[in-house]
Amino acid sequence: MLIAHQIALDPNNVQATYLAKACGVARFAYNWALAEWQKQYEEHKKDPLKPKPSEGSLRRLLNSIKQEQFPWMLEVTKNAPQMAIIQLGKAFKNFFSGRAKYPKSRKKGMHDRFTLTNDQFDVDDYRIRIPHLGWMRMREKLRFSGKILSATISRIADRWFVSVAVEISDTPKSKTPSDVAVGVDLGVTALATLSTGEKHISPKPHTKLLRRLKRLSKALSRKIKGSKNRVKAKIKLARLYSRIANIRRDVIHKITTGLARRFETLCIEDLNVRKMVKNRYHARSISDMGFHEFSRQLKYKTAWAGNTLVIANRFFPSSKTCSCCGHVLAVLPLAIRNWDCPVCSSSHDRDINAAKNLAAYAVSSTVKACGGSSSGLADILHGETAPVKQEVNVNIYL
Ligand SMILES: [Zn+2]
Repeated sequence: MLIAHQIALDPNNVQATYLAKACGVARFAYNWALAEWQKQYEEHKKDPLKPKPSEGSLRRLLNSIKQEQFPWMLEVTKNAPQMAIIQLGKAFKNFFSGRAKYPKSRKKGMHDRFTLTNDQFDVDDYRIRIPHLGWMRMREKLRFSGKILSATISRIADRWFVSVAVEISDTPKSKTPSDVAVGVDLGVTALATLSTGEKHISPKPHTKLLRRLKRLSKALSRKIKGSKNRVKAKIKLARLYSRIANIRRDVIHKITTGLARRFETLCIEDLNVRKMVKNRYHARSISDMGFHEFSRQLKYKTAWAGNTLVIANRFFPSSKTCSCCGHVLAVLPLAIRNWDCPVCSSSHDRDINAAKNLAAYAVSSTVKACGGSSSGLADILHGETAPVKQEVNVNIYL
């Protein structure tokens, strides 16, 4: 499977200037190719004899004109413009297949990044070498061994990072995990509740830092456009945003790593997160919890550990079903945290009960799948057979 490890960089001033320039070239090439794509597509619509645009033809076109029209592009690695156009091609591919929205132009300060192919850099211990730049210090060693495919260098707030994509072989199945199936209920009050009764509470960084976020955004809006103070305020705000994202990701990483190691079969719900976030009342705390990030991490970590992840259909009534007798309630409002079953009169903690139902669901659907008749409800990902859509989903390990 493909995994990307993001590591902080310590460039010196000369190196940082080069990185910023390479990002600028990549951004320019991307936006140029996007405009050219639209132009060529319009021409093709008017005259079908004219070819449809493609990333290959756009790269060739740029190569033929850049020396004359954009000579400053030659100051940085040729990978910067090339890979940017290849990425635009992928963005269009994702758009045509309905996986993503129509590609937008890249903005300075928001999409500062460029990608290098594996023949354009070397990684050695705590450093990375890029032609014309020499060695640059990395804050951490590359944690994964395997075939190195590419490196993307990006700026987040005022810091530089390299994300190295590595093709790793699946780890041999360890014997340590117990063969118990565990259900994991993702929720608003507790981030993750296990069928074993454990609860993981999320720190909700966004809510906690929200006041500072408000203050900094207000400070930014008061600064005059184009002023140095505005740039400073912008960086401050960007740093806070990245801090919030880091806190959130760190917590989720710890929980998902533990789960993927401990249990052989796991079950989560296929949450229609988008629909839930639309609900204004819960929007902030739900996006805070990062359900999507949680299931994304659990998917690749279970696949990596060779364990099985069962994703329950989102119509499976995990909360409303009594885990003791199977009675299904007609309604169960979100505000009700504890309830008693009217049939068998057992008392339930809402989240633990849901997790228990998911665990039972995991067992029954894996048994059915082994028997050859799939229930048609569950999406079962076995570690060894989990499909990895490389161009769509790179697993980012921070
Ligand atoms: Zn019951």
